[in-house]
Amino acid sequence: MTENRVYNFAPGPSILPEEVLQRARDEMMNYRSCGMSVMEMSHRSKMFMDIFSSTKESFRSMLRIPDTHEILFLQGGATLQFAGIPMNLLRGGTADYAVTGNFSGKAAKEAEKYGKVNLACDTGATGHDRIPAQSELKLSSDARYFYYCANNTIYGSEWHYIPETNSTLVCDMSSDILSQPVDVSRYGLIYAGAQKNMAPAGLTVVIVDKSLAGHAMPFTPEVMDYSVLIKHDSMLNTPPCWCIYMLGLTLDWLKTQGGVEGMEEIKRERARRVYAVLDDSSFYRPHVLPGSRSDMNITFRTPSEELDAAFVKEAAANGLVNVKGHRITGGLRTSLYNAMPMEGADALVKFMKEFEVRHHV
Ligand SMILES: *Cc1c(COP(=O)(O)O)cnc(C)c1O
Repeated sequence: MTENRVYNFAPGPSILPEEVLQRARDEMMNYRSCGMSVMEMSHRSKMFMDIFSSTKESFRSMLRIPDTHEILFLQGGATLQFAGIPMNLLRGGTADYAVTGNFSGKAAKEAEKYGKVNLACDTGATGHDRIPAQSELKLSSDARYFYYCANNTIYGSEWHYIPETNSTLVCDMSSDILSQPVDVSRYGLIYAGAQKNMAPAGLTVVIVDKSLAGHAMPFTPEVMDYSVLIKHDSMLNTPPCWCIYMLGLTLDWLKTQGGVEGMEEIKRERARRVYAVLDDSSFYRPHVLPGSRSDMNITFRTPSEELDAAFVKEAAANGLVNVKGHRITGGLRTSLYNAMPMEGADALVKFMKEFEVRHHV
């Protein structure tokens, strides 16, 4: 690791691969001898169009996205899609929402403005400490789509199966996209904000089955209408050029790591090492039940709030930063995204063990 850099366990914006940052730095002032940086280019220039199309191509091949689906590079964050999805897909009907955390809850609430929302499940009563089994999902007979969030960034739970539903599957993969292979053909729509596992904040990737576009509610802003965005290849207005370029660099780096298959092996092992410490300990208390745990965001507590605070402080003094839990949940959270090297997880594990020895009464 470069001197003076820390292991950043932030949930998002979050760690990026060092190789990506170095390449961005090297290409910053004079991208491929064109005399300017990517940030300064016209989005309609040949130079940028090449970046755009190669990033899109690379994203398509990385996730093996079938030709039935279009890839959109948008702004507005994952949050804008909480409204964009019902505006485009709900058509005034009913949709099933699985609420397993904060962001799916917000998405369900937003969707209520545009039609009827049926809660297929809500794990809020037990503090979103698990993902429901397939048999627990209450599906409505006439749903236009079934919405869920694959990885709950704040609570630290993750769906380890694709739900079987009688309607179009829609999924928020903001915090686990590109961490494992996905059978995209099973989904009508997948979307993800870039700042967790792909690129800097400012880009949202939407993968949408083209046959679903063209049914937006009449008041839908043009810039949120999937059929318009598809028609203009994400360039109805200025796209987040720099973030798209950065995503391209991340995809190049991912290829050197064995792609999403390679990442899946690494993330399983990285998370396994941290959960092993939690499960071997009577000091730490993991928040999420086995079988529902996220490989990306690990949530836990020490015996007291004072010790949680001491953990955050002492970890930072050891170069392990941003391990504080979300303000909704309190406690601790360590995010282990693609860019976190195994050495980062090992340094965390070592610190956790030492902290327990020092503070266990
Ligand atoms: C961070 C996050 C969001 C919100 O993303 P914004 O880009 O801030 O709108 C939504 N869903 C999930 C799963 C997230 O992790």
